[in-house]
Amino acid sequence: MPKRVFVSLIIITLSVIMAAAQTPAELADLWESGHVTNILPSNVRHSDLAAYIDGLKGSGVRAAKVGQSGESRDIYQLEFGKGPLKVFLWSQMHGDEPTATSALIDLFAVLQRNRDKEWVKRIENTLTIRAVPMLNPDGADQYIRRNSQGLDINRDALNLKSPEARLLKKLRSEWSPNIGFNLHNQNALTTAGPTNKQAAISFLVVYGDAQKTTSEGHERNKRLVSAMVKAIEPYIPGHIGRYEDEFTATAFGDNFSAWGTPVILIETGALYDKSEMFLVKMNFIAIGTALKSLADGSEQGFGPAEYLSLPNNASGKLMNFIFRNAAMPLVNTNENGTETVKLLIGDIGANTERRRAEFAAPAIIRRIGDLSAVFGLEEYEARNFYAVGRFQPLSAGKFGEILFYKKDRQIDWTAADLEGKFPPDAIFSLGQWIKGEGVVPKK
Ligand SMILES: [Zn+2]
Repeated sequence: MPKRVFVSLIIITLSVIMAAAQTPAELADLWESGHVTNILPSNVRHSDLAAYIDGLKGSGVRAAKVGQSGESRDIYQLEFGKGPLKVFLWSQMHGDEPTATSALIDLFAVLQRNRDKEWVKRIENTLTIRAVPMLNPDGADQYIRRNSQGLDINRDALNLKSPEARLLKKLRSEWSPNIGFNLHNQNALTTAGPTNKQAAISFLVVYGDAQKTTSEGHERNKRLVSAMVKAIEPYIPGHIGRYEDEFTATAFGDNFSAWGTPVILIETGALYDKSEMFLVKMNFIAIGTALKSLADGSEQGFGPAEYLSLPNNASGKLMNFIFRNAAMPLVNTNENGTETVKLLIGDIGANTERRRAEFAAPAIIRRIGDLSAVFGLEEYEARNFYAVGRFQPLSAGKFGEILFYKKDRQIDWTAADLEGKFPPDAIFSLGQWIKGEGVVPKK
């Protein structure tokens, strides 16, 4: 064969392969140019979801009301494709875990808009995808984990005391999907292993029993997670974890798997300096990769290795803020009314509470002492400063509202209205510096 023909044959073969392969980078571009969600996920209310659903319907996506919450908010199901392999996804059964809801909306929007593309045609002809974004709209509107009855829907798979759990079970049993995706958010300070790296995304291939009995679907799900890990790893290296592998008898993921729909759990965490929309994009790439590799069979080129080598989720290694080596004056009043001041030297660790993005999140002091084994997302070197509580004494459980004074100043720590009488050099409030930013050096 002449060389030139050979070369062009290789090019043709390569381009066929490229056409079939929807790369993570291309999925990222599609999300950038085609995402329809434009509200930070934590700010999305049920009415915003309804508007998103209307938009999807307008572009031709099949969307229907399939049930109602305890407070009569509509619960929707989206559908795409006409293939034999049935994929079911649900998000936000915990009301304050919103990231994947936006990713699902964007995914259906992008699939619908790209129906002329080969890889989407293949998904359409191979899979039927159904998704319930925001299973717990009452919890979502209050931004709380539980539903309006105060029930954790994810502990209600057997009792079925909540309308949302009954609906979820019914949607599964009437359709018997081949694979399920259970989409949640985890604590922002969860780490990938006992490190300082936040677990931005964690996966778990969920067993259907405590004995960890495997199945063909379970093994396929491990390969799918490997494909997803490979796709998002370049964007968030070291920030992917494996969720605790413990059977929860009353949870939906475990029971879906037991009932014949092997489940993949995806937990979105957080990433310092990255917006919630970045994590929507990571969900989009991961789930898009799973669908694409199910449709074109490329998941079979994976083994369980990428999944099994993920570090386990860890907690307790990371805090939002650590102020190192601060001198904390403690005022003591003895029996005859004399005040004495003792200096405690130590690290102050504070964490931010989970809030919608539109609300300021207070920092709460969680630990004081030797925090040398703990990392801070933000760390400050406070060895040249006194630190005192602005409204409450510095101790665990109190507000992380802190006044900082340079050590060469003479301060009467017993003074009433300390802040007014002795203006501090820096003030840390609601997770940021409201005075003297940069005075206490960042580490
Ligand atoms: Zn959850």
